[in-house]
Amino acid sequence: MTTRFENGIVVTLGPNNKVTWNGSVVTDGETIVGVGDAAEMNKRFPDAESVDCDGKVVLPGFICTHHHFYSTMARGMAIPGEPASNFVEVLERLWWKVDRALLEDDILLSAQVPLIECIRNGTTTIIDHHASPGMRDGSLDLIEKAVREAGVRASLCYEVSDRNVMGGGVEENERFIKKIGKGDGQIAAMMGLHASFTVSDETLDRCVGIAKDAGVGCHIHVAEDLADREDSLQKYGMPTVHRLDKMGASGEKSLFIHCVHIDDSEMDLIASTNTCVVHNPESNMNNAVGVTRIFDLLKRNILLGLGTDGMSSDMLSQMRCAYLLHRLANMDPRVAFMEAPQLLLQNNADIVERQFGIRVGELAEGRPADLAILDYQPPTVLNENNFLGHLIFGLVDATVDTTVCMGRILMQNKKILSMDEQRIAARSRELAPEMWQRLAELQ
Ligand SMILES: [Zn+2]
Repeated sequence: MTTRFENGIVVTLGPNNKVTWNGSVVTDGETIVGVGDAAEMNKRFPDAESVDCDGKVVLPGFICTHHHFYSTMARGMAIPGEPASNFVEVLERLWWKVDRALLEDDILLSAQVPLIECIRNGTTTIIDHHASPGMRDGSLDLIEKAVREAGVRASLCYEVSDRNVMGGGVEENERFIKKIGKGDGQIAAMMGLHASFTVSDETLDRCVGIAKDAGVGCHIHVAEDLADREDSLQKYGMPTVHRLDKMGASGEKSLFIHCVHIDDSEMDLIASTNTCVVHNPESNMNNAVGVTRIFDLLKRNILLGLGTDGMSSDMLSQMRCAYLLHRLANMDPRVAFMEAPQLLLQNNADIVERQFGIRVGELAEGRPADLAILDYQPPTVLNENNFLGHLIFGLVDATVDTTVCMGRILMQNKKILSMDEQRIAARSRELAPEMWQRLAELQ
């Protein structure tokens, strides 16, 4: 089916960003077949179904390169005991109990809720990192089912660690990676690992072997807190990135998440192995772990993306958080105006290309039909030269009206079409007290 999304302010992004007022994007099935002036597209595709964008801003769907769907049911939960005073305590008292308390229905709902929020925020491609030691085997199938129902695109993995059982989760990753194979453009698989300080050499070696054989990358938290660096120095006599690289976990398909506490030699190693790094500023601020040196990473041409780490599914607010954080951290109002949008709009698309083998993040003929249509009336001229100003100070607060992924309209006029939002939220509220109770009973 051919559809004309017409009469919008079309912002193509990509290497030749073009802004067209009264513009149209035409999709045929899963692919974009025309972008440009509405009258011209009308002439070229007269028989296409028409969706009126009514002056709204049409952008490519957003990308999140690090998410944790499973964190959903922690929202609003009282954490038993004393407040966590450092990052390791946050893990021990909160996240390492949340994941153990999740059962089959919780895993499905914990994915469905943030998937709805992704659609609400125009986020159409997500790289997720999952953990549920209480119901591990088959958990990635449940998330895959939720992703396909939602209609977005996702790369999935299970977080291997030795903290509950040696090599817990290796088989789940291996099974899922084999099942997905080369993928269908909607679902991809990676080898997930928690972090250097929770995986032994033996487990890491097994994971890297499976990943290499399958041609996938490792998705792992790296030096999020100083504790990860200190653990690696103490146990292995080298900092985290050197240990991971020595064990074979780096490479152009691997994602090193956070990299807050890494030194220059580790940055050089990330650069020379062409490994991707994902920055999660809201999460780093929330956990009070420190500030990633994004300019030093970018200076080395390291592919640095932007994720939410489960904090939210809103990539525009994450982008603005990066913008604000690095201005303050550097005490310099000249920085981050270009870099924060670059992480979201360009680098995340480059990371997706390495994972899925497809090019998203650009409205152009032949590209996947992923659209985020935002309700935004520019109060000043909006063109290629000042788009970033509108992005950081205006679009960031605009509501997404319509979300399209692979040509399918997932939300229109702010109504979710692919899922029953009210039923899912109600069911989640029903299950959460039981999950909280199981968590309270864990040691
Ligand atoms: Zn994370």
